[in-house]
Amino acid sequence: MTKESANTPSMETIVSLTKRRGFVFQASEIYGGIAGFWDYGPYGVELANNLKAAWWKAFVEEPINTFGIDSAIIQSPKLWEASGHVAGFVDPMIDCKACKHRFRADHIADLDTGDLQELAAALKDKACPNCGKHGTFTEPRQFNMMLTTHIGPVEEDTTKAYLRPETAGGIFVNYDNVRETTRSKIPFGIGQIGKAFRNEITPKDFIFRVRELEQMEMQYFVDPKTRDKEYENWRTFTRDFLLNYVGLSEDNIKWHEHQEGERAHYAAAAHDIYYRFPHGFKELLGVHNRTDFDLKAHIEHSKKDLSYFDEETRERFIPNVIESSMGVGRLFVAALTEAYTEEKVNDETRVVLKFKPAIAPIKIAVLPLSKKPELTSVAREIYASLAGTFRTEYDETQSIGRRYRRQDEIGTPLCVTIDFESLEDKAVTVRHRDTMEQTRVKIAGLPAALKQQLSEF
Ligand code: ATP
Repeated sequence: MTKESANTPSMETIVSLTKRRGFVFQASEIYGGIAGFWDYGPYGVELANNLKAAWWKAFVEEPINTFGIDSAIIQSPKLWEASGHVAGFVDPMIDCKACKHRFRADHIADLDTGDLQELAAALKDKACPNCGKHGTFTEPRQFNMMLTTHIGPVEEDTTKAYLRPETAGGIFVNYDNVRETTRSKIPFGIGQIGKAFRNEITPKDFIFRVRELEQMEMQYFVDPKTRDKEYENWRTFTRDFLLNYVGLSEDNIKWHEHQEGERAHYAAAAHDIYYRFPHGFKELLGVHNRTDFDLKAHIEHSKKDLSYFDEETRERFIPNVIESSMGVGRLFVAALTEAYTEEKVNDETRVVLKFKPAIAPIKIAVLPLSKKPELTSVAREIYASLAGTFRTEYDETQSIGRRYRRQDEIGTPLCVTIDFESLEDKAVTVRHRDTMEQTRVKIAGLPAALKQQLSEF
């Protein structure tokens, strides 16, 4: 279903719904929280798992020549020296001398550049967004965003290690292991889903910009001669994933091509997909043509030969990398924003999350009309018969109206209600989330009927 831009919910609406209904909580909330860290609750973990499963299916399972790995979060610090992160994974930072607040200089200057002089010039007429004063910013300076830790009992420079700032590093250092063990020929891809850490200067906008994030990345290794074509293929593939697997609408996404200055120095081309988030069109993911930068850097630093010999053309080359990289959290907010719908029903506002069934946290709710044992015993039997096949929830508390409302707000496609008639006619009512239509279905044929109805959303 296409959403109008006017229907995009506000961030407060999303934050309050996700907290009220158990999708996302502030990390360490009882201690006042910790900036940039969030916990996923019972429905949030299901939604995030479904998004990850959809990505894994589309990127790793379905293509004929892609494989998955799960590499360690902490790798040799040499990896991050080779990749350029130790020297260059920096963001420009400024402080307000008056109120002591700290900001990303490029965000305040409204400039997509890391050039400190350009930023300093642009910041001259800007006021501090916190205290409103002019001329109170420090000179911009670079801040490395990698989080560090120490390995073993002694804290000194030689024991320093980094929490990975992106999952890609673990893929590059395993390129040859995967190629050899899968007996792959170029082109082939390696996908990974996992946590990454960035010491963001100003984490903000709910789970959009966080310090502990989760990424889904595909690095596809190609012959340099085909890389432009492969790049276009992966752009289309990534966009189709958003439309067909997650259910985002075309109206709400657009391409943003990186211009010189914004693009990483090694990238031949880079396009982000922007989504119409509650706080505006912002980056959801990136597709990058990384050239031979990564493997070349690892060849230089590790002294291992990672070049590839093409048996057919008798040519040796360093594989180039096309990357598709997206954050689980940002996709989570996009999916919620897309699904969020308010409707007027009998003068009341009905809030519904119209997720595609594949990503809905719960597929089926089993609801006995009352707590009478003769109904609950049948309802529990029905729950047991469905739970292994569909992610099902059982709920017998509160009025049936309030229970439907709750299931609508967590996006459950189908509710199965057991009433007193069920004891006579051995049938139940199945309520459709979006149309609210109810159909009577025989208990004997229930799993097949539910499967059919889910497929018709
Ligand atoms: P931004 O410009 O928004 O900081 P980026 O260009 O640095 O993002 P990449 O390094 O390309 O991001 O990372 C790939 C993806 O990982 C992003 O498109 C985004 O979905 C996700 N991501 C990156 N940083 C964060 C973060 N701090 N919080 C949540 N997700 C993030």
